[in-house]
Amino acid sequence: MGINIYYYESKIECQCCQKKSTTYKVRPNRYKVVDQDTDFMPIYDGLNPMLYEVAVCPHCGYAYHKSMVRTFGPFMEFVREIYIKPLQKPMSICQERTLDDAIASFKLAYLVAKASMEESLVMANIAIKIAWLYRLKEEKKLEIHYLRSARDFYGQAFASNKEGEERIHFLYAELSLRIGETEEAKKGFSHLISGRDVSDKYKKLARNRWEDYKYNTAKKEKNVNEG
Ligand SMILES: [Zn+2]
Repeated sequence: MGINIYYYESKIECQCCQKKSTTYKVRPNRYKVVDQDTDFMPIYDGLNPMLYEVAVCPHCGYAYHKSMVRTFGPFMEFVREIYIKPLQKPMSICQERTLDDAIASFKLAYLVAKASMEESLVMANIAIKIAWLYRLKEEKKLEIHYLRSARDFYGQAFASNKEGEERIHFLYAELSLRIGETEEAKKGFSHLISGRDVSDKYKKLARNRWEDYKYNTAKKEKNVNEG
């Protein structure tokens, strides 16, 4: 068998059933981050490594993302009871994935995280990635649905450091804007712009984003009135 030039096989030992398997990961020289969206979605040139972030065990169906922390002891009992038991047939998505496969893998991770009662921040970070995958698929309604879930989780989330907290506040405002809750977005951005302890980085990000939004809205209204 020849070497796959796009992917390598990562070995996994399932934390749920302890069986071994392998799952594709994109080779580091096959992608490059060239930009990011206003909600920090990385834009890649080449392949998209995000499609391979969730490892799904082909034996029992357990789905693992590196952001998960409640992956032991009593939490795994909840996962077995709430997630594994009702699962029909485990999916086999350990090789090349379509966007739909990737969405399925993140949805499984979302269910595992819910079963093990992961913190809101973990839930938010999984939900936003499902939304991003729907954005790539150009399914606006489902994208908005998951952006809203992510926004609500960010609204309850805490981080262990200042940078993390500011990121959460920014994303709360940004996602509010994207789902059409402009007043909530405005409140969130103003909080960052005028906050005394807020870092320059997030002050600037919030100011630029809100000003761009106002400018574009004004331009759109002008076009409508003149058109
Ligand atoms: Zn397993």
